[in-house]
Amino acid sequence: MIVVMEKGATPEQVKHMAERVEALGLKAHVIQGTERTVIAAIGEKRAETKESLASGPGVEDVVPILAPYKVASREVKKEPTQVCVGSLKVGAGIIGVIAGPCSVESEEQILVTARAVKAAGATALRGGAFKPRTSPYSFQGMKEEGLRLLAAARQETGLAIVTEVMTSEEVELVARYSDVLQVGARNMQNYRLLEAVGQAKKPVLLKRGPSATMEELLLAAEYILNEGNPNVMLCERGIRTYEAHTRFTLPLASVPYLHHKTHLPVVVDPSHGTGHTYLIPDMAVASVAAGADGLILEVHPNPEQALSDGYQSLNFIQFNDVMARCRAVAAAIGKKM
Ligand code: PEP
Ligand code: MN
Repeated sequence: MIVVMEKGATPEQVKHMAERVEALGLKAHVIQGTERTVIAAIGEKRAETKESLASGPGVEDVVPILAPYKVASREVKKEPTQVCVGSLKVGAGIIGVIAGPCSVESEEQILVTARAVKAAGATALRGGAFKPRTSPYSFQGMKEEGLRLLAAARQETGLAIVTEVMTSEEVELVARYSDVLQVGARNMQNYRLLEAVGQAKKPVLLKRGPSATMEELLLAAEYILNEGNPNVMLCERGIRTYEAHTRFTLPLASVPYLHHKTHLPVVVDPSHGTGHTYLIPDMAVASVAAGADGLILEVHPNPEQALSDGYQSLNFIQFNDVMARCRAVAAAIGKKM
């Protein structure tokens, strides 16, 4: 249910109604819009709940939330959410660009990459320290040493750090070094991890599972929001289909679809979405044209030598070209990048 407050409702009235919601055994999420404040009341409601809230001070209306996800829904918040952390802004007319290697491999590799992507206009640095690899024999990441190198790259360049956390036990450690916690595709439905990153109060980049529906993605986001963490970015990174010409199939219709259903910003990952360097530039440009609020791109100083995902990494020159093309499209549709 949504408790819609009147335009002129006072902060005291909002606080009072949030307390009334909690007293009814429901969880209250106060959402400040530009026009008015609403309180999403989440949980099992009784028949008399609606009437009892509707008569409260400063309340204009009490309406049901029809979508199965609640706090993530557009019904609760009409204005787009912008996630802001350090150098990274994503959403509400601003396109954020998260770029860097698949994996942190060495001090030299991450620093050189951070400098190059920053010079080309990236607003955050990516790099995996804890890597979810299909094979246990593949490079598993530099773990805490990788996190330290990412923090050093932030120190030098000022770029916000986006890195993956794979288990709830490691959330505290990864959050200590990073600015955005990435939940990988393989973990999208790891509900204990979603709750843990929700409690960490750091922005989260939630990647779509390769076989997850849009509704499952939004319900996964709801787990994070329900812990009181409003800073969730959804990431379309491609799904598994019968098609084999690309590593995954990148469905860009999910961008406008998600914008229709949720206020959360949508980031697209053309690197994992295609799995081929030569396809990434056009799909990055297409993502911006489709309305993406952000891009996450794998960039490596020497893709041929990369310890993971070199075949889908851009070199610095290619990244610079992609940025120029994306910026032109962003400007054409009235967005800042
Ligand atoms: C990644 O971004 O490095 C990654 C492992 O992506 P995904 O979880 O989408 O496979
Ligand atoms: Mn990768």
